Parts: sequence; C-alpha cells; structure tokens
Amino acid sequence: MTDHEPENPLVAAERDIVALGIAVAAIIMLVGTGGSVLPEAIAALLGDGGKPNVILVNALLLNIALIIFGWRRYRELTREIAERRRAEARAQLLAATDPLTRCLNRRSMIEATEALRKLAETRGEAIAYCMIDLDNFKQINDMHGHAAGDAVLVMVCDRVRALLPREAQLARLGGDEFAFVTTFPTGHPERVDDLVVRIYESLAQPLRMPELTVELTVSIGLACDHDIDRATGAEVDGNALMHRADMALYHAKKQGRNRYFWFEPSMENELRFRNQLETGIRRGLARGEFVPFYEQQVDVESGTLVGFEMLARWRSPQLGLIGPDIFVPIAEEIGLINELSERLMEQAFRDAREWDESLTLSINISPVQLRDPWFAQRLLKRLVAAGFPPQRLEIEITESCLHENVGLVRSMIMSLRNQGVQISLDDFGTGYSSFEQLRNLPFDRIKIDRSFVSELKEPGQRSRLVEAIVSLGRGLDLPLTAEGVEDEEILKALKTMGRLKAQGYLYGLPEDAEGVRARLAAAGKLITPRTEPGVTTRPAAKAPLPPHRAAQG
Ligand code: C2E
Ligand code: CA
Ligand code: CA
Repeated sequence: MTDHEPENPLVAAERDIVALGIAVAAIIMLVGTGGSVLPEAIAALLGDGGKPNVILVNALLLNIALIIFGWRRYRELTREIAERRRAEARAQLLAATDPLTRCLNRRSMIEATEALRKLAETRGEAIAYCMIDLDNFKQINDMHGHAAGDAVLVMVCDRVRALLPREAQLARLGGDEFAFVTTFPTGHPERVDDLVVRIYESLAQPLRMPELTVELTVSIGLACDHDIDRATGAEVDGNALMHRADMALYHAKKQGRNRYFWFEPSMENELRFRNQLETGIRRGLARGEFVPFYEQQVDVESGTLVGFEMLARWRSPQLGLIGPDIFVPIAEEIGLINELSERLMEQAFRDAREWDESLTLSINISPVQLRDPWFAQRLLKRLVAAGFPPQRLEIEITESCLHENVGLVRSMIMSLRNQGVQISLDDFGTGYSSFEQLRNLPFDRIKIDRSFVSELKEPGQRSRLVEAIVSLGRGLDLPLTAEGVEDEEILKALKTMGRLKAQGYLYGLPEDAEGVRARLAAAGKLITPRTEPGVTTRPAAKAPLPPHRAAQG
C-alpha cells in the first residue's frame, strides 16, 4: 500500500480489534497482579518498604502503558467513526436535496411522499400533492441572467416553505418546477385550497433583488389520495399522485396560467388527446402534411386584390383539415414552431413567386419565434435562397410579442425593415400595446382585429372602437387592414372610413396553393416562373395551368 492509497477499513478495524484486545488483556493483568505489586511499589518509592521486585514493577509499568495505548486508540476510533457518520450523513443529504434551494430533489421527493402517505394513513388523514410551475421563468432567466434566475428560485422556495405546515415536504423537481406534499383532514380539501391561496398571495408580492425587482405568476396542479378513487377503490400511491398533479398543472397552464386546478379524471383524456396530437404533429411535419393556405387581401375602395395572408393548415390523414389554433400552440410548446414555420414559409415563397409581382405575401409570426435572436437573419437568408423579393413580404406580429422583450423585437423589426420587409401589428386592440410602443416601434401597418370589425355587421351600426382605431392609424400615419369582413354591410361601413385594406370570408375562404393559382390564372395574375441565377426552379405543379393565358393578363 502506498502512502496515498486510503487505508483499507477492514485492515484498520482488525488492527483496532487487536489494540482493544491488548488493552483488555492489560487491564485484566493489572487487576490480577496490580493488587499486590502496586502497594509494594508505592511503599518502595516512598522509601519505607523493602526493595521492590524489578520484574513485577516493569510488568506493571508495561501494563499501564498498554492501557494508555489501548485507551487512546479507542478514543481515536470512536472519533473516526463519528466523523465517518457525519460524512455519510452529509453525502446522503447532498444526494437528497437540491443544492440551490436546499429543499428535496425529485428522487427523494418520491420517498418522502410515500413516507408521508403511510403516516397519514395510520392517522386516518389524507395527503395532497401540489405541483408549482413558474409561468414566466424562462423570460426572467433570458432577460436578467442565470444569477437572477437562481435568486428568484431561492426566493420562491423560501416563500412557499414559510407557509407550509411543519410536516409538509417541499422539493424542487428541476428547472422552475416545485412540489410539496402535505397532510390534511380527510374530507376537507378546502384546507389545501386555503394554503394554495396563501401561496398565491405571497408570490404575488414582487421579488426584490438589489439590482432589480421581478414579478411572477405560478400555475399549480393538485391531487389528493382520497375522494377520487372511492368509486374504484383503487389505492392512489405516491407515483400516481405525482402524475395526477402533473396533469392538473398542465391543465392550469393550458387554461392560461396563473391559476390552479385539482386533478379530475377528464384531464387524463385531455392529455391523452394532446399526446396523440403531439405525435401526429411530429409525424405530420416529417411527412409534409402542413401546407400553406391563403386568404385574399383586397383594397376596399377599388376592390382589387392586393395580396394574400398565409394561414397554416394541417392535412391530417386521421383528423382531417386542422386549423392553426389547434397545432400552433402545441408546436410552440414542443419546440417545433420554428421548423414548422420555416417549412411553410419556404413553400409560400415558392407559391408566391408565381403570383403577379404586385401581390404581397403576409406571414404570421408567433411570439415564441421572436424570442430567437437570429430570427431576422434566418428569415432573410430564406428569402434570398428562395429568390423572393423582401419588398413583397409582410410579417404580422401580435401585440403579445411587444409584451415580451421590446428591445429584441425592435432590433429585429429594424433589420427586417432595412431589407425592405414590411411589418404589421396584428390583432390590434386585443393586446397591450401602448401608444408609446406604437409611436416608437416602426410598424408599417395596423390590422384591426375582427372582433371589432364584426361590430359593423348590423345595418347602420357604427363602431366607435373601429372609428377610434382608424383615426389613430391616420394620426400615426399608419395604413390599416380590417380583418373578418364577412358581409356587404361591414364593407359598406368600412368604405366610409377612407383608404383601407380588407380581408375576410366576404372575399372567399382561405384556399390552398392550387386554388390560388386557379384564381390568379383566371384573373391573369400568374407569371411564368423565371429562373434566376442561383435559384432552382420549382418542381412542376400537379395541375397544369395555362401559363400563356396567365402571362398575357
Ligand atoms: P389571424 O392572423 O387573426 O388570422 C385570421 C384568422 O381569421 C384565420 O383563422 C382566418 O381563417 C380567420 N378569418 C378570416 N376571415 C374571417 C372572417 O371573415 N370571419 C371569421 N370569423 N374568421 C375569419 P385561422 O386560419 O384559424 O388562423 C388563426 C390564427 O392562427 C391566425 O390568426 C394567426 O394568428 C395564427 N396563424 C395562422 N397561420 C400561422 C402560421 O403559419 N404561423 C403562426 N405562428 N401562426 C399562424
Ligand atoms: Ca394575421
Ligand atoms: Ca389577426
């Protein structure tokens, strides 16, 4: 064994047993012989006895030395054991806790939940499992850095811990997800509701740090081991509880976050359907089942077609034609929105290159896409690759984008505009944009949300809101588009409001590329595809169209 190798504990223990044996033997010898030798030796030392037996006195001294040696070794050993126990305990604690917040981690939470459940069972009590997810944590991390993010996690954890009953167990499950498990009197889940409400109240207070103050909201999912499965009589164990709380949490997030739900059996079906959709979307993306549809945009005054808004559709072999309201949020959640959107754009650029050059193409961009700092660069690259003129492209962003990170959005808008791309503010009036933002952000157009436009439906009806938005647009020198123009009545009202673009079912439902080609061919607004340097020609269209007639216009 070299100096650096740790001593084999078995060898050390053996040696300790030998040392202890020697000490015990020494004590026995001392007791056996010491009785007669000791007084003799002391008397000799004091000078009033005869000469002591040297051998016996030596044996006595050796005896005492051995006892001291054994005793010291024993003390060392007990100290060593205590040290080892402490180290073991520390290692166990580290393995069981989250180093940042010092609460339990996911692994140890499973055991803690089971333990508390058994304890509650013996007392005839119930337990509730509560999952907490911070709604906008990623944003805090992205905008203020990881140190601020960590501080937020610690503060949230402390606030929750301060409100929990003594027996409750709190864990950080990972990232920005926390969970706690607590007992409550069976049949009184309202006690848990009270606790959760207090947690909401506490977390609603701004989190103050030396450099900044952060506000956040949380979504919560709850499940309990009683009351639910009385029908089946099935036992709900710790794992099932966790899974159910997770489903309730997912439901809370889908309902708009910043709220809590108790688990209900229907959530299981909801989640199953959602998972099927998710699998379907992944598969559909690989199989090219997502296609662009196009909605006409028309100049109100002249009635001429000025462009199209691309609207995504999913041609699912199982579910039929699915709208973006269903699949866009899921694609955002599972991180596929960029890929999906880029595929659709590529297709749309190819389609639109065949349209008359006067026609624009509008594309919707979700707030999630705008979080990517390289979004503008990637889009411009795609435009170049497709050989589509940026001047014909319009990007539609909603007001919620501005809520997220105005600085980033602003710089992206600027770089797109520098290349000639136009930017519209979509669904205007439904979000939070302030006059300040409207004035400072270089938009090219405002789109009036269809919920306001539909107010013009009744004959003779005026909509003060639409009029207000129109005059706001005029004041800011921003052109306007009215969405959701469904009938002549609305169109008539819009015609009195000056120069506008309009789109809606009055002009036809959104249609696929073939439909648009046929429409444009009939109107003489298709051009024969040109081969530009560095640009590959599009593959032949399925339905052959009469290009000559189209080109003659
Ligand atoms: P949006 O940008 O407000 O698009 C207009 C929506 O209103 C479309 O629904 C369209 O079909 C519908 N619509 C058009 N005219 C009328 C009308 O006269 N009456 C009524 N009631 N509705 C009308 P759609 O296609 O279901 O799109 C919903 C939303 O999904 C869009 O709202 C847009 O925000 C988003 N979206 C669509 N395509 C994409 C996409 O490729 N990427 C992203 N990120 N979002 C998309
Ligand atoms: Ca839009
Ligand atoms: Ca819209």
